[in-house]
Amino acid sequence: MLKGKTALVTGSTTGIGLGIARALAGEGCNIMLNGFGDKTAIEEIRAGLAKKAGVEVGYNGADLSDADQISSLIHDTVSSLGGIDILVNNAGIQHTAPVTEFPADIWDKIIAIMLTGAFHTIQNALPHMLEKSWGRIINTSSVHGLVASINKAAYVSAKHGIMGLTKVVALETAQSGVTCNAINPGFVHTDLVQAQIEDRATAIGKSPTKAAHDLLSKKQPSLDFVTVEQIGALCVFLCSDAAAQITGIPVPIDGGWTAQ
Ligand code: NAD
Repeated sequence: MLKGKTALVTGSTTGIGLGIARALAGEGCNIMLNGFGDKTAIEEIRAGLAKKAGVEVGYNGADLSDADQISSLIHDTVSSLGGIDILVNNAGIQHTAPVTEFPADIWDKIIAIMLTGAFHTIQNALPHMLEKSWGRIINTSSVHGLVASINKAAYVSAKHGIMGLTKVVALETAQSGVTCNAINPGFVHTDLVQAQIEDRATAIGKSPTKAAHDLLSKKQPSLDFVTVEQIGALCVFLCSDAAAQITGIPVPIDGGWTAQ
């Protein structure tokens, strides 16, 4: 379905981003991977994905908190893979602390990566989509782009912020063949959530399995984690012709979290 197209998925060396990259590659899309991690492991992922899906896969380790590196990332994607048709703004980090104790430098970093970074990728990538009268921008927001939780001031602010950016970009591109939407996952069992499970296990003095159940039971009525494959499939749908008139919306995938 996406043969001949190119997608940049930020923060795709692990977790949700890697799940999205794999799903798009499975539809024939060339992929630019981005994110941090062990160089050998990343090369294995890159080469493995290229072989399995039979598509071109590149890697660029740009830091999404740096505007100059983002500009180079977009140039590299266009020059090495022939364009940029799909942009998935997914890179993210988490830090939990009450607002009175929240470190200001971590606030700045979270906003820089998850909100300002997405502004820069969109600003750099959108002209390439408009040139072709086709494009898909998918912003990995969160249930925390729609509702709040304690101790996540920066994360919730960045994720609410990207909902605003999503709507503005959708309106500005409404007649152009480009769509811009947000996906809003509940708990997905990735490295980012593993840290919260371990903190909870320590706090309640129980095993990580019990702590994971405890975390889910507070927020996610299905009591099951969302999988990265389910999120990948949602992104494939948002890139399809069937979704051409879906723009400017949040798409929750959250086991009922935001129905409460
Ligand atoms: P993860 O830690 O597995 O992946 C995060 C990715 O972002 C990694 O590839 C990492 O290297 C990359 N990254 C971090 N800082 C970066 C930077 N400065 N520049 C470039 N890349 C950077 O976590 P995940 O759970 O897969 O999270 C991916 C996205 O999904 C995040 O935006 C997160 O907020 C969002 N999300 C996660 C959940 C969840 O339950 N896991 C739920 C809702 C939304």
